Formats: sequence, C-alpha cells, structure tokens
Amino acid sequence: MQPRFSLTADLVFSKEIPDEALPAIERAVEEANTVLFRKGVPKDAPEDEIGRITGHSVAGAALTLTLVSGGYTRVHDALFRFRKHVAGLLGRHRIGLRDLVVSDYRVELRGEVPEGLRLPVLPFIQSAECGPERIDLVLAVSAADLENKIPDRLIRLIEEKAEAAAYGGKTEHWELVYESPKREHSYREDPTAEMIRRGWIKHALSRGQWIHGPQSTRLFRTFEAIVLEEIIEPLGFTEMVFPKLVPWEVWMKSGHAKGVYPEIYYVSVPKTRDPAYWEEVADYFKVTGEVPIEMIREKIDGPIGGLCYAQCPSFWPFVGGTTLTNDCLPARIFDRSGTSHRYESGGIHGIERVDEFHRIELLWLGSPEQTVETADLLHERYRRLFDEVLELEWRSARVTPWFMAQEGMLGGEGSERIGTTDYEAVLPYSDSWLEFQNVSVNGDKYPRGFNVKVQSGQDLWSGCSGIGLERWTAAFLAQKGFELDDWPAPVRRRFGDAHEIFRFV
Ligand code: ATP
Ligand code: ZN
Ligand code: MG
Repeated sequence: MQPRFSLTADLVFSKEIPDEALPAIERAVEEANTVLFRKGVPKDAPEDEIGRITGHSVAGAALTLTLVSGGYTRVHDALFRFRKHVAGLLGRHRIGLRDLVVSDYRVELRGEVPEGLRLPVLPFIQSAECGPERIDLVLAVSAADLENKIPDRLIRLIEEKAEAAAYGGKTEHWELVYESPKREHSYREDPTAEMIRRGWIKHALSRGQWIHGPQSTRLFRTFEAIVLEEIIEPLGFTEMVFPKLVPWEVWMKSGHAKGVYPEIYYVSVPKTRDPAYWEEVADYFKVTGEVPIEMIREKIDGPIGGLCYAQCPSFWPFVGGTTLTNDCLPARIFDRSGTSHRYESGGIHGIERVDEFHRIELLWLGSPEQTVETADLLHERYRRLFDEVLELEWRSARVTPWFMAQEGMLGGEGSERIGTTDYEAVLPYSDSWLEFQNVSVNGDKYPRGFNVKVQSGQDLWSGCSGIGLERWTAAFLAQKGFELDDWPAPVRRRFGDAHEIFRFV
C-alpha cells in the first residue's frame, strides 16, 4: 500500500524568536525542501513522494511546522533533519532548542484493503478508519516515538496483516519434495490407546502430559541412539546444554515475541523469598487442603518469560554480540537436555500432540553455502534412515507461510533456500499424515537478531532441525504395531527386552 504522511509539530526554543532571525528560517525552509530532504532519494522519485515543509509560522518561542510526504524522506525523518539544521542556525542568535511537540500526525494508506483485515489496536493509534481502498490513521505520538520509528513499524505491521489477510485461512504453502515407497501396514490402531493398555504410559496430572514407563522410555532412547549413530556422529554435531526457561529478551531477539503468546507456558517468580511473606499461603493450604491461586497471583512478579517453546533460541546468547573466527565454521551442535512446552489447548491428541514433549534439536551455523550444505546432508541421511533403517512410509514437503511464498517476500541471493521442510509419516489408523520433525534454513535471522558476526565479514546463516521423540514414537508404532519381532532389526536389537518394573494388583 502507498503511504501518505502529514505532520504538524512545534519546535520550542529557549526564548522568543527575534524578527531578525526570520529571514534565516525562511531560507532554511527553502533549502530543506530543495536540498536537505532530497539527500538519499533516488533521482526518479516522484516529486510529491518526497517530504516537504508546506507551512511554517513563528509565535513567541515556537516555530510551528507542517510537513507532508509519501514514501521518501518521510515527514518524521524530514522533521529531524530540519530540526538539526535550524537549531544550528538559531544557535548563532544564542537561542537553544528546548522541546519538540507533535500536535498532529496522520497517515493515509492507499491501495486495496483485503477483506477481513483487522487493524491493530495500540496506544499510538488515536483513530483508524478503513475503507475498501484506503486506511486513514490519526496517531498520538511523541517526539521519542518518532525517533523510535513507531510510524514506520506500524505501517509495516499493517502491511503484514494485509498480506496475511489476503491469503485468508490458508496459512501455509505446501510443496511435496519426496515421497517414500508405499508400505503394507498390518497394524491399524491408534498406538496411544495400546500403549496405555499395555501400561507403557500413563496420563500425568498436568494437561497434555504423560509419564513414560520403562518401555516407552526405552523406545525414546532407542531412537536417540539411532539418531546419534546415523546423523549426529557422522555429521559431527557436538552436544551442548541449552537453558529451558526463556526470558523475554531471548524471544525478542529470536522474533518469537512477534507471536508466540497463545502457546506459551508462562513463568513467574516470587516477589520475595521471605518465608513470612508466603506463610499465609502455606497456612491456607494446611487448613483447607486447597492451594490459594488468587493469593499466589498477588505475591508473584512477571511473567519473566516462558518455558522452552522452540529449543534453539536459548543457544544464541552463547555467541550473541561476538565475532566468530573463520575457522570455527561450519559449527554443528545439538541439544537434548530437556522438555519443550506448548499450550496446545483443544488440539491435544495422544502422545503426539502434547503440552510437554521431548526433542533433539540440531543447530548449525556457517556461510550461506555451508548452511545449505548441512541441510542437504541432513536430508540425505534422514532419507536413508527412514527408508532403510526405520522402514517408514513418509514424505517431506517445503512449507512456507502463504504470504511469504509470494514473489518478492524472500529477496536476496540464495534466499530460495530459506524456509522449512516438514517430515511427515502416514498414520494408517486414521489415514492421515503426522509431522514428526523438520529441517529449517533460517538465513541470517538469528545471527542478525543476536548480533553475531564472522571475522571475514561474510554473511552468517544458521539452520535447525527438531526431532520430536513423541512424534517418532507415534509414527513408528502406528505403522509397525506392537509385535516386537515385526520391527525393523536395528530398532528391535536396541530395544531389547524392556522389562516392566511395576505390576498392579
Ligand atoms: P504442528 O503443526 O504439528 O503443531 P509445528 O509446526 O507447531 O507442528 P514446529 O514448531 O515445527 O511444529 O516444531 C518442530 C517439531 O517439534 C515438530 O516437528 C514436532 O516433532 C515437535 N512438536 C511440535 N509441537 C509438538 C507437540 N505439541 N507435541 C509433540 N511434539 C511437538
Ligand atoms: Zn530451531
Ligand atoms: Mg504447532
């Protein structure tokens, strides 16, 4: 959409602006419109797209300015350029700039407004009107908001919402990459039900949470061992331990702060650890047998962040703000040190869509070529693993958010390789497909977000792959069933005889 801006603001000086300064102001306005505001603007930019001062007047100590612009030297940028210039001029008359007061800021966006667009509701938006071909905004912004580029970010946000709305409910563009040979499936039951029946798992007390008994755990470890042997060791990934409590700062830098809120498990901390402060809570429980949630709510701060959602963001502060030597790239690491948590709400299903799950996360960094090469090596090894070792019926597909799949959204060299490939396995009992892992090439998103550079100055990219143990287990058991002797030999051999430990009368 094409933006048009208009802005009225007062530059307030330390004393009354004398008449003898007026010609200088006059000249400054003239010069700003003809020279200053054109700096950095392409030669072929249409005249009325470039910021200009359309009105100015002096009253006492205030110089009131009205500016308009299109997309070039937007009114707030123009205002700051002019402020610097005119402050220098009036300095010669021993008058200092004291304040900048924005009295009116309007934005008009022209272009087709997609149906279903919901304009943001934010404190900076005083009023917003939406027609079929234009959006009119009146903003309540301070000078500090303008310095923080609030209007630019707001417009970007509205454009993003418009792009997303234009593709309606379709959230992902899905494109098949590989399909394994079809296989005969003699087993056609939901494996979760059978795992419960056999006492392999039991519901835990939190939602979407299971207690995995010895056999189920053994199968997790079997898959882990296979991943170590077939993927991690041959490709030289080294183990690290990433934190599992994620403060806002990490999600601000990873970009998750742009939208992860509906699925977070939030984390809060006590206002104090003074036992006396908490005594009434403990006493209430002792007397009633109930935990007083409301009383606790009053006594905690935060949330300070949430539990691990995606595993890799928590790695990045390890290298954040540094410059890596050339010879440590490509770097390949992995984490399997703890649980991930997502509030899946009504989506919970079996062991495969849960609120608490276990994943091995592979992470790699390098030049764009190195990053893509690692992704390709992974695809190759995964394919062998699923076809020849686990003997699954599976497929892989490139998934891209719909509005990004459109031309122009992913620009820059090699950018066609940025994105996610999902791995899916067929579930014979429901004749549907389950995503059990993925491989992503993330471009420079994380290095940029966490400010990581390379000695040589070349571009730094990264990728990650999340191997979901619950999803592997669900896919494997759904296809192979529970006759252990029917399982592929490498799984059977490692699984051994997983003894039950608990027997119930
Ligand atoms: P889905 O579309 O199935 O919800 P997703 O796109 O949210 O999956 P990602 O964010 O790509 O999943 O997470 C990477 C991997 O983490 C998945 O491939 C899967 O193995 C695992 N995973 C994600 N959410 C869950 C969950 N709720 N329960 C179990 N495993 C999960
Ligand atoms: Zn990741
Ligand atoms: Mg999900």
